[in-house]
Formats: sequence, C-alpha cells, structure tokens
Amino acid sequence: MADVVTMDKIVSLSRRRGFVFPSSEIYGGLASAYDYGHYGVLLKENVKARWFEAMVRERDDIVALDSSIILHPKVWEASGHVEGFHDPLVDCRTCKLRFRADQLEHSRCGRKPSKHPGETDECDLTEPRHFNLMFKTRIGPVEETGMDAYLRPETAQGIFINFKNVAQIARRKPPFGIAQIGKAFRNEVTTGHFIFRTLEFEQMEMEYFVPPAEAEEWFRYWVEERFRWYVRLGLRESHLRVRPHGPDELSHYSRQTSDIEYLYPIGWSELEGIAHRGDYDLTAHSRTSGTKLEWVDGEERYTPHVVEPAAGVNRSMLAFMVDAYDEEEVAGRLRVVLRLHPALAPVKVAVLPLIPRNAEIATKARALYEELRRSVVAEYDDSGQIGRRYRRQDEIGTPWALTIDEQTLVDDTVTIRDRDSLAQERIPISAARAVVEDRLAADWTSPKAD
Ligand code: ATP
Repeated sequence: MADVVTMDKIVSLSRRRGFVFPSSEIYGGLASAYDYGHYGVLLKENVKARWFEAMVRERDDIVALDSSIILHPKVWEASGHVEGFHDPLVDCRTCKLRFRADQLEHSRCGRKPSKHPGETDECDLTEPRHFNLMFKTRIGPVEETGMDAYLRPETAQGIFINFKNVAQIARRKPPFGIAQIGKAFRNEVTTGHFIFRTLEFEQMEMEYFVPPAEAEEWFRYWVEERFRWYVRLGLRESHLRVRPHGPDELSHYSRQTSDIEYLYPIGWSELEGIAHRGDYDLTAHSRTSGTKLEWVDGEERYTPHVVEPAAGVNRSMLAFMVDAYDEEEVAGRLRVVLRLHPALAPVKVAVLPLIPRNAEIATKARALYEELRRSVVAEYDDSGQIGRRYRRQDEIGTPWALTIDEQTLVDDTVTIRDRDSLAQERIPISAARAVVEDRLAADWTSPKAD
C-alpha cells in the first residue's frame, strides 16, 4: 500500500491538534518560524529525553553540558564561522525570489512552480553570492561602546571551549564525550518545508574526544549507533539511509561526514550529520585563546580528535510524525492515526468515562486518571461521544485508552483499547497502571505498511 502521508497532511494535523502553529500568526506570520503547542511540546520533550537517555544516562563515558547561547565573539572567529559559515545564494531577476545555489533541485521556480529555478527560459539567475548565516546582535546598552556578538548557529562550540573544564573536573579520559541540547539560530533563506528548516531550532549534539588513532573506528561506531537510535524509536529502516559526503561537500572542519537521511515527503533529506572533525576545533581554540586544549596525563600529551553526531530536535520530530502518520478505513469511516512509538507519544494513556453524567463512573475514572498521571502523561477526556474521543486520541498518537463503563461499577474492570490493533481487552482496574507501564517498557516496531 502506498504511503498516504504528505507534508500538507502533517501541517494540517499539527495545527488541528495543536502540535505546531505558524509563529506570529496574528501579525501575518513570520516565515520559517513556528510555535509549539501542548502536544508539540510533549513530543519534542520526549525526543530530547530519549536522546539524553541513550547518549548520557545509559552510558559511563558521556557527560552533559548547557553552555550559553551568546558566547565570546572570538569563539566564532576561531571556529571559522565568521569566515566560512556561508550559503551560496542566487537571485532570480525575473521572479525576484532568492534560492540556495546548492539546493536548486529542492526549490520551485517563482513563475512555474513545477520547474526548478533556472529551468525555464524566463529564469534569469545571478551568480552565487555568499551570505553569512549567523544572526548578529550587540552586547551593551550604548551603541558606541557595545560589542558585536552572535546567536550561536550550533551548540558544538560551547562544548569545545569547555573541554578543559570538563576533562579536569569530571576527570574523564579519552574516549569520552560531552553532550548538549539547546537552541541554535541560522538566518536561513530557504523556506517552506514546515519545521524541517527554521530560523531557530534545537540541536542535540555530542562531541566525542578520542585518541587520534581511534577516530576512524569511533566515527563508524557513531554512525551505526545513531542510525540504530532512530530504528529503535520506530522509524522504518526502508525510510532511513546513511549518505557519506563527497570530498567537495565536506564542511571546512570535517575530514569525513556521513548524513543519516530520512525519506521525508520532500525527498531524502538530512536528519542528522556525523562528522569526524579531527583536531580542528581544539587546535583552533587553543591558537586563538592561548589556552592549550589538550589531553595531558603524565608523559602522555596529545590533542584529541573529535567525532560529532549532530541531530536536530525539530527535524527528528517531523520525521517521527511523518513516519507515524497513517490513515485507514474503520467501519466505513476514515481513521487518521499517529502510530508513534509509545516512548515518544505525547500522551501515553487516555482515561475515558463512557457515561460522564454518571457520577459513579466519573469518580472512578477520575481516580484512575489521578493514579496514572503520577507515573505517565495521562489525559482525562469526558467531552463528546466516545467515538470522537477515540479519534482525538488516535490523531495525537495516544497508544492506549482506558474506558470506564457500567461494567466497571459491577466488577472493577476497565477496557483497554490499543491504538494500533484496535483490540479491546478487559483488565482489573487495579492492574491498569502496571499494564500501561509494562506495555510502555516493551519493544515496539511500527505496524505501518512500507
Ligand atoms: P542543512 O544542510 O540541511 O542545512 P546542515 O548540514 O547545515 O543542514 P548541521 O550543521 O550538520 O546541518 O546541523 C546538525 C543538525 O541540526 C541537522 O542535521 C539538522 O537536524 C539540524 N538543523 C540544522 N539547521 C537547521 C535548521 N535551519 N532548522 C532545523 N534544523 C536544523
């Protein structure tokens, strides 16, 4: 069966259910900026929590960091961003639109959207010009005495400049890693792919410091490890691939890079990049700052090499939603369902009193809900017909719904409904919390057809 998902359906579901809203809408909107509503926040938090679990909590060799968004401006000189963090842009003199010269195949001509820029006789593109992607700001209240600064375009540099602090204080010996989740800002010009590319986004980056001779091996290790993370969280392997960069594509700091790509509705696109950065960053910051960033242990002294898996929270969230989106006909009606991995689902369980007017049913349902929400995100919904309530939970991807009905009053059992199979089972109300917790901890693979 062909995949039914399109970007428009994801945008519309996101809005309908309050995952993501266009930003500043009452002022006419701001291109490439989005606001996250309740379920979007919960989903995004779950993506970050699963990353942190896999990268920090379940490992002995990686520690966490939260560095500033505004760093000393010299950081960006040393890192090469002032000089080299550019996108090549072309303008079309005919339609007045601006495009990334290296991504024309992903852009649409302003006059004939079925064509790419430059493909029609009318297109009149300028030579590529370079445009720095960093947002500039100023520190200090007085214009003359202030200092130019930048909003960080990646979280990585905050990690490099803290290498010495962490190596000394956390007493780590390479190989070890420093992980950080946080906002990054880029003055992107390519717009129109929803939350795939935005001005402001969140990154999940980890810098892994290794003895130089081991770097290649660790690079392969992290490509494999990060690929598996997406598969474990339910992305279909048929929609994931690893794409090594050609020599002409490599960033200024990179010796080797592979992208993990996902087959989005816009085509195969980068989800995460894994780069072998060599000693580029530690050497550059040592040179510019005058502080030697190296590993010293008795006689042993060297500048570690760095392997960096750099992922995007928002792009991951989009991939998880796209992969999960499904439609099916049930009893003659269309059912839209987000088949999210339960560990990612914004709400784990919904508690639904079948007859909300019945005070006894409502009391039991409320008590169950209050018990469940002590360990998982639960939702209590007593508005509207039961079918509508199920549909609402299906669309936000809630894996289980517990329904309390008249039978509950007789024998203290409830119905547990499974989002994917639609199977319904009666279980004792006293076991409900344990059943939900057990199911949540179990392995899961997407039931969505390829
Ligand atoms: P692209 O080539 O798509 O611009 P990139 O190679 O510049 O991405 P990196 O610098 O490797 O991206 O950043 C690491 C990750 O951060 C990306 O894989 C992506 O998930 C995320 N990311 C980068 N730029 C954006 C953006 N503008 N909006 C949303 N996520 C982004």
